Amino acid sequence: MTTSDIAALAGRSALVTGGASGIGAAIARRLSSLGAHVTIADLDPAGARAVADEIGGDVWVVDLSDPGTVDGRTIDVDVLVNNAGIQRVSPIPEFEPEAFHRILMIMVEAPFRLIRAALPGMYDRGFGRVINISSVHGLRASEFKSAYVTAKHALEGLSKTTALEGGPHGVTSNCVNPGYVRTPLVEKQIADQARIHGIEESAVVETIMLAHNAIKRLVEPDEVASLVGWLAGPDAAMVNGASYTMDGGWTAQ
Ligand code: NAD
Repeated sequence: MTTSDIAALAGRSALVTGGASGIGAAIARRLSSLGAHVTIADLDPAGARAVADEIGGDVWVVDLSDPGTVDGRTIDVDVLVNNAGIQRVSPIPEFEPEAFHRILMIMVEAPFRLIRAALPGMYDRGFGRVINISSVHGLRASEFKSAYVTAKHALEGLSKTTALEGGPHGVTSNCVNPGYVRTPLVEKQIADQARIHGIEESAVVETIMLAHNAIKRLVEPDEVASLVGWLAGPDAAMVNGASYTMDGGWTAQ
């Protein structure tokens, strides 16, 4: 048994943004099962409360598209998971600048402000884990997702810079880069892409989402959460500035 097994995070606190749904909810459950006290920061009060009640955690109802709301709040946690995200699928000429801006606020500026607020406490304690839920689209572009691809590439840069600054203080920062995971976010994307390409939704999964995935199935939220749990624990102490793909082989091509 390694230290990353039972109670690897006993006595630790964690904040998971977007923890009310999908991958974030799976991460919240996983970190809790490893012993951490988890706070869920989410726009959705009911969804956040449901997950928090299940794991004995706390809720912070926040709209991260207004990242200024982070300022002035003490983010005193050992593990910060920047997971909240949204998607918009649209060709660039029809992509509203307001929608582009909103995606960058939620997926780049909010993580920056949360990291900025969390680092001083992590430095004081000589321990911290910043885990940023990026995507294969942090490493590879895709048509019709200009804001998402831009935001995820920026998050990669923020994560690596945090890794360099945090390392001397015992703080690591890493990205997790899933391929397609079946969550509400992806269900909406399947419908949007079916409309744009004029094909059946099942064909979107087969011909677009699994086209470069050698294992030919979507990723499960629990699989992403398992990797996050390991990154948060003591066995990953020397993993810093990395980006871990979980994509069935997509980016290996
Ligand atoms: P999801 O839609 O199931 O969950 C996203 C959560 O973020 C929701 O609880 C939502 O309320 C919250 N959220 C959205 N906007 C917010 C805001 N302004 N302020 C606070 N909370 C907000 O999505 P998911 O698929 O679980 O995605 C989670 C993360 O994983 C995202 O960053 C996404 O880019 C990334 N990701 C997802 C996939 C995938 O295929 N699902 C693949 C790679 C990366």
